[in-house]
Amino acid sequence: MKAEGKKAEGKNNMKVPLLDLKLQYQTIKEEVMKVTEEIFESQYFILGPRVEALEKEIAEYCSSKHAVGVSSGTDALLISLMAADIGPEDKVITSTYTFFATAGSIARTGATPVFADIDPETYNISSKSIFRVMDGMTGKERKKIKAIIPVHLYGQCCDMDSILEIAAQYNLIVIEDAAQAIGAEYKGRRAGSIGDFGCFSFFPSKNLGAFGDGGIAATNSDEFFDKLRLLRVHGSHLKYYHNKVGGNFRLDALQAAIVSIKLKYLDGWTEARQANADKYRELFIDAGLEDIVNLPAEKENRHIYNQFVISLKEKRDDLKIFLTDAGIGTEIYYPVPMHLQDCFSNLNYGEGDFPAGEYAASHTLALPVYPELSYEQQAYVVERIKEFYS
Ligand SMILES: *Cc1c(COP(=O)(O)O)cnc(C)c1O
Repeated sequence: MKAEGKKAEGKNNMKVPLLDLKLQYQTIKEEVMKVTEEIFESQYFILGPRVEALEKEIAEYCSSKHAVGVSSGTDALLISLMAADIGPEDKVITSTYTFFATAGSIARTGATPVFADIDPETYNISSKSIFRVMDGMTGKERKKIKAIIPVHLYGQCCDMDSILEIAAQYNLIVIEDAAQAIGAEYKGRRAGSIGDFGCFSFFPSKNLGAFGDGGIAATNSDEFFDKLRLLRVHGSHLKYYHNKVGGNFRLDALQAAIVSIKLKYLDGWTEARQANADKYRELFIDAGLEDIVNLPAEKENRHIYNQFVISLKEKRDDLKIFLTDAGIGTEIYYPVPMHLQDCFSNLNYGEGDFPAGEYAASHTLALPVYPELSYEQQAYVVERIKEFYS
């Protein structure tokens, strides 16, 4: 294989960005401008009726009883951990293969993240690995585990039955990191409504993105709902009287109003993503690349394809450069698993601890899958990958 220095040939004028939000914006521009003007005229910027309306809409969409608009997906995780009273003496289990915010939020409460490996087919946390990690602990250490954060990576739910079973057995709070999975389903249940908390992100590049930072924490518990709302505003229900130390986790009215507009289109966009995933499958099979390219496994019944991630048997990094040269945007989600991050070196993990996560970090590549992607663009992506490996 002569990969290095090889340039893509042929239709080099084709551009396929990883994500093109400008196309989507053109379809909602009028509605967005109208609501923006209304909010500017009202000069009412933070929380208020727009945020309350979005909370109701998201709760309904995710079949959760309550939802609390917050400042980001990261803050949705942090405030949920705080509402669950997770603190310095506690340990929280999560996947080693996730966006940093999952593990970072645990550490920010003072608690210790405990990592587990992934299922190599879905990239989601593996219950077998969770059991192995638990079995390797002393009874005293195991008692410190208070919560588990399953991450529904790339838009597909974790195997929630086995996670709920583990949680019941060890009396753990379940906080779903659904930042990549709004609208995804597990056995007919919506992501974020299955555990004690569901955390969502409106970061612009997510499948339901705001025009800035934003997020929401969902819960079916009235008690947790009250706590979330209290913690969002510095732990105070009555202004300047504080019964808990919370934070400024508030969501802007403008972001809420824009997400409300976009939510109406989300199912259509999700269907387009799913159709694009199907097209990739056909194109890859036609290209005869099954020895080199591992396509994403669709195990749960509503994968919303926030990302379409393939795994390459070899030369992933060279392929990425080759595709960049050919005008194709790709991304590596994520190049370093959590147990090998510098900031967690005090936890004494080492290379080889979680082989499936480590393998994924060095072999996966996300391809463009956004709703407006054209068939020609997808065909071009697969042709260039075929060219690289031939
Ligand atoms: C994006 C993301 C977050 C954080 O969301 P922000 O809104 O960027 O703070 C957390 N977890 C996962 C898995 C994510 O993809």
